[in-house]
Amino acid sequence: MYADFDLVIPETLDEALEALAGAVGGGNGGTQPLAGGTNMIVDLRARRVAPSRLVGLGRLDGLRGIRIADGRVRMGARTTMSDILRHPDLAGHAPSLVDQARVFGGQMVRNAATVAGNICSGSPAADAVPALLALDAEVTLASPSGTRVVPLSEFFLGYKRDARAPGELMTEIAWDIPPAHSSNRFYKLALRKGDAITVVGVAVALAAEDGKCGTARIALGAVAPIVKRATAAEAMLCGQALTPELIDAAARQAVDDVDPIDDIRASAEYRRHCVHALTRRLVTQAWERLT
Ligand SMILES: Cc1cc2nc3c(=O)[nH]c(=O)nc-3n(C[C@H](O)[C@H](O)[C@H](O)COP(=O)(O)OP(=O)(O)OC[C@H]3O[C@@H](n4cnc5c(N)ncnc54)[C@H](O)[C@@H]3O)c2cc1C
Repeated sequence: MYADFDLVIPETLDEALEALAGAVGGGNGGTQPLAGGTNMIVDLRARRVAPSRLVGLGRLDGLRGIRIADGRVRMGARTTMSDILRHPDLAGHAPSLVDQARVFGGQMVRNAATVAGNICSGSPAADAVPALLALDAEVTLASPSGTRVVPLSEFFLGYKRDARAPGELMTEIAWDIPPAHSSNRFYKLALRKGDAITVVGVAVALAAEDGKCGTARIALGAVAPIVKRATAAEAMLCGQALTPELIDAAARQAVDDVDPIDDIRASAEYRRHCVHALTRRLVTQAWERLT
C-alpha cells in the first residue's frame, strides 16, 4: 500500500532537527516531518508523496500548547485543533481561530491535526491560515544552525511552495494579543456543516481608533493558489469611519484580489460572489462590535 520509508521518532527537538538536517530538496521525496499525519498518511496512500524517511514529531511535547503572556499568544507547532477548542482564554483573543477549529474536519481529525501541519500542507483551503493571517501571525522556523521568524504573510510563495529551507522545522506560531478595541471573525462556506473542504473561507480582523478603523486585515481562503490578504480592500477601510457603502465597496475590491478556480465544489464565479458577500458580512459584524 505504501512505498517503503524509514520512520525516525526523536525524543528531543535537537534530535529532530538533526534528523531533518539531512533533508535534500524538500518537495515530495527526501526526509519530511510527520505531525498528526492527517494529510501525510492520505498522501502516502495515494502515492502523491514518496519520502524516503519520516521524522515523527509525536514525542516533542515542548512543541505542543498555547501560552498567552507578555502581550503575545504563542502556539507550539504541534498544537491541535482540539487543543485550540479546549483552551480557556483563546476565544477571548482569537475567536476567528477558535471558530475555524469548530468547523474543522470531524472529531478524530481535530484531535490529530496540528496547526503547523495545516500551514505546511500548503493547501489554499487550509482553514487555520486565514484566521492566522488576519491576526498577523509569525512562524518560527528552526534548523541545527538556529531559528528565524517569518511573517505568515511572507511564508507562502505559490501553490504548495513556501519559505522553508530544506530540513527547516516549524516550531511556533505567534501573534500579538489584539488591542482592546478590536474584533476578529472567520466564516467557512462549505457544502456540508462538518467534515467538508472549504469552498470559500474568509477571516477579518479590525481595530478601531477614535471612531475610525485603525487596522483592517482581510484574509481569503480557497480562492487563489495560496491563502492571501486582500490588501487593496484593507487599505480602503483603514483610517475611515466605516459605512455600509464603504464596506460594500471594499468587499467588491476584495473580489479583484482573488483568482478562484472552477472545481467539483463550486464555480469560480460563485466563489467570487461569496468573497464579496462574506467579506461584507464579516467586516460589518466586526465593525458593529466596535461601535
Ligand atoms: C477527513 C479529513 C478531514 C479534514 N478536514 C480539514 C478541514 O476541515 N480543514 C482543513 O484545513 N484541513 C482539513 N484536513 C486536512 C488536514 O487534517 C489538515 O491540513 C491538518 O492540519 C494537517 O495537520 P497534520 O498534523 O495532520 O499534518 P501532517 O499530515 O502530519 O503533515 C502535513 C504536512 O506538513 C508538514 N509538517 C507537519 N508539521 C510540520 C512542522 N512542524 N514543520 C514543518 N513541516 C511540518 C509535513 O511534513 C507534511 O508535509 C482534513 C483531512 C482529513 C483526512
